[in-house]
Amino acid sequence: MSVLELARPEIRALRPYSSARMEARGGKVLLNANESAWPPYGDGDAKCNRYHDPQPSALVERLAALYRVRHEQVLVGRGSDEAIDLLVRAFCEAGRDAILISPPTFGMYAVCARIQGAAVIEAPLREDFTLDSKAVLAALNPAVKLVFVCTPNNPSGRAVDPVEIARLADAFDGRALLVVDEAYLEFADPAFSSATALLERHENLAVLRTLSKAWGLAGARIGALLAHPDVIALLRRIMPPYPLPVPCVEAALRALSPAGVALAEERIQTIRRERERMRERLADAPGVRLVLPSQANFLTVRCDDAGESYIRLLDQGVVVRDVRGHPRLHDALRITLGTPRENDCVLKALAGAAA
Ligand SMILES: *Cc1c(COP(=O)(O)O)cnc(C)c1O
Repeated sequence: MSVLELARPEIRALRPYSSARMEARGGKVLLNANESAWPPYGDGDAKCNRYHDPQPSALVERLAALYRVRHEQVLVGRGSDEAIDLLVRAFCEAGRDAILISPPTFGMYAVCARIQGAAVIEAPLREDFTLDSKAVLAALNPAVKLVFVCTPNNPSGRAVDPVEIARLADAFDGRALLVVDEAYLEFADPAFSSATALLERHENLAVLRTLSKAWGLAGARIGALLAHPDVIALLRRIMPPYPLPVPCVEAALRALSPAGVALAEERIQTIRRERERMRERLADAPGVRLVLPSQANFLTVRCDDAGESYIRLLDQGVVVRDVRGHPRLHDALRITLGTPRENDCVLKALAGAAA
């Protein structure tokens, strides 16, 4: 069975919008897209007066090399958030289909599903925030088209063993698309290898990656979906014609240059060191009861009184994420790891809380 049989039939049948840049490439005198012939003030070399390639080949090739996939397996979008939205819209029919998530997890899966009118089925993480594969399998029903697994998980921090991902992909074969969100994988121990290695064997697998976290490009909004070429082609049908702003594509290519890679690797090492240092220091910090294990660039902590710790931090100008709204995290705050100095601000503010 083709993975496309899981998708909405009307999307498979849709005749997509055909943009000027898709219809004709090359040429020197470009008079087919009603653009301005003149660049805007202060444009430099960006050529922002032109509509650009919907999927810029230089960036697609670079991301394919980075993630070790073929370029037909790459869809670049405005953050992985856009890919999540496209997946839900292409696979879930309103009022009939569903997604499956394991809370506490990233909020966008459920938000995108609800906007689309798809149901959200939950198979919660275990008490220790590991994935409950048995519960995930048990919760699967014919309405479920997408199963989201976030590894390392936001906001709890643990990563899923790649062997478990492979097992799930097997189990869902022909039944649902397994979407593995690896937004924080760069920060994880090497044993947590990317699910992209499984793409050739499992056409019902899709992997989300982003340049927003480890690559320092949250403001540029560049994310990638890595999946079977048929899934990529399907999503391109419903993607707006020119999704990627030219300055953002250029910022991404600079960040992915050899010098950019070296810098990103150095910063990832800094975050990993800080994660270890802060894990120990936070465990002894006033008001903190427990630091949850994390493979990501944040530490989620259980507090004696999370509301009070939040305010104490805020009083010192330190903003952390209040995650008390998530199941099993009713006493928790999520603290992103910053520079060593910023992290010291957290410790200082918490120590002040005891005084
Ligand atoms: C931050 C985050 C993303 C989204 O990132 P984009 O900026 O949209 O690429 C995706 N998934 C998880 C789990 C995240 O925490």
